[in-house]
Amino acid sequence: MITILTFNPSIDRMYRVNSIGIGEVQRVTSTKATAGGKGLNVTKVCKILGEEPLAIGFLGGFNGEYIKNELNKLEIKNKFTAINQETRNCLNIIEDNLTSTEFLEKGPVIDDQDLIKFEADLESVLEETKILVASGSYCQNMPIDYYKIIGNICKNNNIKFILDTSGEALKVALESNPYLIKPNADEIKQLLNINIESKEEIIYAGLKLLEMGAQNVCISLGKDGMIYLNNDEVYEVKVPKVEAVNTVGSGDSTIAGFSVGILRSYDTINLLKLANSCGISNAMNIETGFVKLDEVEKYYEQVQVKKLECINN
Ligand code: ATP
Repeated sequence: MITILTFNPSIDRMYRVNSIGIGEVQRVTSTKATAGGKGLNVTKVCKILGEEPLAIGFLGGFNGEYIKNELNKLEIKNKFTAINQETRNCLNIIEDNLTSTEFLEKGPVIDDQDLIKFEADLESVLEETKILVASGSYCQNMPIDYYKIIGNICKNNNIKFILDTSGEALKVALESNPYLIKPNADEIKQLLNINIESKEEIIYAGLKLLEMGAQNVCISLGKDGMIYLNNDEVYEVKVPKVEAVNTVGSGDSTIAGFSVGILRSYDTINLLKLANSCGISNAMNIETGFVKLDEVEKYYEQVQVKKLECINN
């Protein structure tokens, strides 16, 4: 089973307004609320791909109940750790000219008791977990090395740990040798403080991340596809040109494709085809963390995966 960890999920609320006037009353023309957070996007796409993922993490208060309810409606298994504080809201205000203004709450403050409860909940699902995906940032007050602790738990239980986070949390977690990480170009610049423009620079950055402890590194490059490497091989992926309408969540959909492909023991070429075709399909749909199976099948055939002969190519 694929278990997906979201520490800081949110109710993502979208408001449409004609235009924002600062200091004025705003009339909202339409609203939409969804269960959001990077891990929940991964979970939803794994479900669409035909798996039965389990969603875990922290949920609290009225907002937590709302998210649980939404997941139940989608028939997504979930076993969240209950906390006293309220799960956050994130607000995206979209004007008629499609300008988007986001308000992101920090989310709950987690204490030691919450972590102890979470660890017991995690322990109870380890046996049935083959792949553990952790996506997104921590809640407030969580120790910076918490993903490393989880990575070590995975290592001790023979679970493949896929980690999609950024900054210091990712850097520290590399010491637990995660099976796969998927930084994008901006996250790499921030992490390694290097410029990555050319293919050589991207591969160099990937090699650095392998050196720092990752077993496999995928550097996703939006419409330019991705570079995927481990200590034996380097692959370059090119994706077809498509009409993208919303690329938010493409990275999460890619992670879902990786998780499902790894669970199904795909070879690297087919794994990369599945991961990228999920990212492409997400980009073609307005909904975040959503893919259409017929599009995934179509782009699976069109994604080009090339094994690079030598890392200096
Ligand atoms: P997010 O954080 O919003 O989830 P990300 O920055 O982690 O996204 P991207 O690199 O933007 O991830 O996208 C992941 C994958 O999705 C790409 O490697 C590619 O396969 C696909 N993809 C994304 N944007 C496009 C696009 N405009 N056209 C075609 N494919 C795309």
